[in-house]
Amino acid sequence: GGDAGEPTGEAVLELEDVVKRYGSETAVSGLDLTVREGELVTLLGPSGCGKTTTLRMIAGLETPSDGKISVGDEVVAGDGAATPPEERDVGLVFQEFALFPHLTVAENIAFGLDDPNSETADERVAELLDLVGLGDYGDRSVTELSGGQRQRVALARSLAPEPEVLLLDEPFSNLDVSLRVRMREEVKRILDEAGVTAVSVTHDQEEALSISDRVAVVNDGTVEQIGDPGEVFEHPTSRFVASFLGQASFLPARVSESGIETSVGSYDRDLLKGLGDGYVGSHVDVLVRPDDLRATPVAEGDADGEVIRRQYTGPSFVYHVKLDDGTVLRCLHNHTEEFEVGEPVAVTLVADHALAWYPAE
Ligand code: ATP
Repeated sequence: GGDAGEPTGEAVLELEDVVKRYGSETAVSGLDLTVREGELVTLLGPSGCGKTTTLRMIAGLETPSDGKISVGDEVVAGDGAATPPEERDVGLVFQEFALFPHLTVAENIAFGLDDPNSETADERVAELLDLVGLGDYGDRSVTELSGGQRQRVALARSLAPEPEVLLLDEPFSNLDVSLRVRMREEVKRILDEAGVTAVSVTHDQEEALSISDRVAVVNDGTVEQIGDPGEVFEHPTSRFVASFLGQASFLPARVSESGIETSVGSYDRDLLKGLGDGYVGSHVDVLVRPDDLRATPVAEGDADGEVIRRQYTGPSFVYHVKLDDGTVLRCLHNHTEEFEVGEPVAVTLVADHALAWYPAE
């Protein structure tokens, strides 16, 4: 877990109660967001939750139905303002990179500059080529580049005019998996080095958690929770956020004077984060993820449940165990602990950190 404090830098981008309707459909429904100088905030959420629409409104490609958007000191949408995209101090990196195939790498990067043929432009392009690790590629045609190299050119082009805010729309989705992991580290390094303020959009939670300074989990057109990655992962404020991050299950528990009683045993009350005395006698649902749980094959009579699925993830196995009450828990195991679907197992909570929980519904 990281520092849970609010970031303190100057607000560079601000969305206040932004709404976007398409006919009877509400794509964005009162979204608030403040992005501070130098940070990368990722909008993370399921398909259709309004991430792309939000990004397009910031860029000026869509007009909000209501609410206000400010970039730097300037209101660009709402309050009577409607600044066109090209007059907003905002850069956009598209999924498909949108490079010009008939131009060289250097010409593509220079394209966004006011005076692309000037000496200052040449210097800026050289600086950006270095920044993105393509120092020797300026004269190449972009058609001769790999996917990762094209992505770097697209990033350099968007950074060239030094926008106040850089927007990244699913920037890694067109790259294969291994390149995607490398490129997201690389892009984060470049953004940090250039001190850029950025907003990215993804539905890939691992990507959001690994590169963002803060993650904004979007649900149904609003930000449901925003915080640093450790905070939203370990202390999700709602069941929706909990379910969206990691492979979450909810383990029903009854709180007693002495501890918590679950169908996989009794545990200390300290296991639940911030559980007050007021909850004695009530039912809660404990957020458990695969690394919090272990299964042990046992005789039928001693079992808590049965393995219903074995999921191979490469470095580990995740066993899906169905308890007698119907709850399905996922348990993380290494390769030496291998057992079969159908085996009766006992489940143990092995979490070494306090768990989040929600009042039972
Ligand atoms: P994805 O991850 O699938 O790209 P998203 O979170 O980016 O999803 P949006 O593209 O912002 O979601 O769409 C939000 C909602 O608004 C969806 O229900 C979508 O169908 C609707 N929507 C988006 N654009 C339009 C449009 N031009 N006309 C009508 N409805 C739209």
